[in-house]
Amino acid sequence: MVAIDGPAGSGKSTVGAEVARRLGALYFDTGVVYRTLALVASEQGIPPDDAGRLAQLAETLSLRVGPPSIDDGRLYDVWLDGRDVTWVIRSSEIDRLASLVSAHPPVRQALLRLQRELARNGRVVMAGRDIGTVVMPDAPVKIWLHASLEERARRRQRDLAKRGIVQSLDELIAELAERDRRDATRAVAPMRPADDAIIIDTDNRTIEQVVEAVLAIVRERCECAEHGADSHSVASVTTPQN
Ligand code: C5P
Repeated sequence: MVAIDGPAGSGKSTVGAEVARRLGALYFDTGVVYRTLALVASEQGIPPDDAGRLAQLAETLSLRVGPPSIDDGRLYDVWLDGRDVTWVIRSSEIDRLASLVSAHPPVRQALLRLQRELARNGRVVMAGRDIGTVVMPDAPVKIWLHASLEERARRRQRDLAKRGIVQSLDELIAELAERDRRDATRAVAPMRPADDAIIIDTDNRTIEQVVEAVLAIVRERCECAEHGADSHSVASVTTPQN
C-alpha cells in the first residue's frame, strides 16, 4: 500500500499512476469519488451544503473507474451510469463543488468504506488528501507531494491548455488557494501530511525524478519487486452499487 497525498496540482495523479504501473499495482485517485459525487449532486439540484442528502447520495453512488479507452491525455476512464464523465468532472465548477461536498463528515464517512475496501484489494497506490492520515493509516509507504502555489497553478494552466481551455494564472492561483484553505481547515480529515509521511518537494523535479524518488522509498520499505510495464495500473474499480 502506497499512500500519496498532497494539494491540488502537486502531481499526485501523474506520479501515482506511473508508480502503480511500475509496481503492477492498482491505482486509485480518490478525488474522482468526491468529484463524481459533486457532479451528480449538481445535476440532481442538491445544494453543496445539504450534508444529509449528499451523504445519502454518497451511499448509493455508482461509478466505474477503468483503464483509459481513449488516447486523449486521460490516465483512466470514469464512467457514471454508462456515461463517460472523465473530463466532465475536471471543470473548475466541479473543482469548487468537490471541495465543498467533501467537507461534510457524513459524506466522508460514507465514502471511507468504499476507499478502505479498495485498499484491501492487495497492491494499491492511492492518492488523495487524507490517505496517509485516515484512509490507510497503516500504509507502509506514505508520501506527501509538495509544490508551491505558483508552480501548481502553472501546471494546471498547461493541463487546461491541452484541452483548449484558457485561464489566467492569477485566477488559477486564487482558485487553488481557496481550495487549499477549505481542504486544510475542514473539521474532519483535513488535508495534511501524516506524521510519518515522507515529503517530496516536486517544484524543481521532473515527473520521472519524483517517480524514481517514490519508488526508492517503496524499495526501501517493502519487499515489492517491480513488475513488468504490461500490467494495467488502473484496474477496473466499481463502487458497491454495481
Ligand atoms: O484530488 P482532486 O483535486 O481531484 O480532489 C478534488 C477534491 O476532492 C479536493 O479538493 C478535496 O476537497 C476532495 N478530496 C478529499 N479527500 C481526498 C481526495 C479528494 O477531500 N482523499
